[in-house]
Amino acid sequence: MSAPDRGYVGRFAPSPTGPLHAGSVAAALASWLDARAHGGRWLLRIEDIDRPREQPGATASILDTLSRLGLRADGDPVLQSTRGAHYEAALYALRSVGLAYPCGCTRREIADSQQRAGLSAARHGELVYPGTCRDGLPPGREPRAWRLRVPEGVVRVDDRLLGDCSQDVAAEVGDFVLRRADGMWAYQLAVVVDDAAQGVTHVVRGADLAGSTARQVVLAGALGVRSPRWLHVPVVAGADGDKLSKQNGATAVDAARPLPVLDAAMAHLGFEPPSVRGHDAWLAEATLRWAARHGPRATASGR
Ligand code: GLU
Repeated sequence: MSAPDRGYVGRFAPSPTGPLHAGSVAAALASWLDARAHGGRWLLRIEDIDRPREQPGATASILDTLSRLGLRADGDPVLQSTRGAHYEAALYALRSVGLAYPCGCTRREIADSQQRAGLSAARHGELVYPGTCRDGLPPGREPRAWRLRVPEGVVRVDDRLLGDCSQDVAAEVGDFVLRRADGMWAYQLAVVVDDAAQGVTHVVRGADLAGSTARQVVLAGALGVRSPRWLHVPVVAGADGDKLSKQNGATAVDAARPLPVLDAAMAHLGFEPPSVRGHDAWLAEATLRWAARHGPRATASGR
């Protein structure tokens, strides 16, 4: 294996909306293997800011499954629910330089103005914001959400697996939400603040989040923090062809039998699963296979 990269910090950041299923295990394994292949550290973060979507017991179940799979983290997991003061500080910093502004629009109003402008509906998971409140709240409007003032132009993103994922965030997403109208912190803000706070240098996650990456690069720039490197692995599809989720039949993996679960995840990631039996040997062989394709020597081109 290549010389260890002591500066490498990776992470897995599940939302506790249910137990780990085949898709989330593949993402967890990929990020763990990438960290080990680089001789780096691997951290865990529980993204429990969306309380209504949280499922009781999911955090404990996720941690238990990871430990049975042998995917042990370097250090205790960070819980986003404890990090509100840091998100508040980031929003304050953005406001004080004029990069965040209050928005009084409802979803309905945004959808209507989009329709009037002939814009297509939601792209990248959010309605394209037409900029209604950018230059100040219209008279009589109350602030609801906080948005980032997104600079014009294409944001460059070079994914280690997907290649060019650049995106014109201003045109395709618009000024996106940092704090939601219901007072909850937006995923985009929390993830950027926490990746920076945890010193994350490499993000490896499911390709369903590839469309968020450019937004996270913009936000990191606005906050004056470094963006990590990116690698998005294919998502596992459910019965309906969409990303596997609770809605389309995702079931919890059987953590009592870790090797078949790891074999399936490895195959999904496009690798022949190691035929060695024995947990530690399996993980060691899988790390070598990952390193041959994505390790520091395999990626001398800089990706
Ligand atoms: N919490 C997100 C999820 O479970 C992942 C966030 C990330 O990896 O950036 O989908």
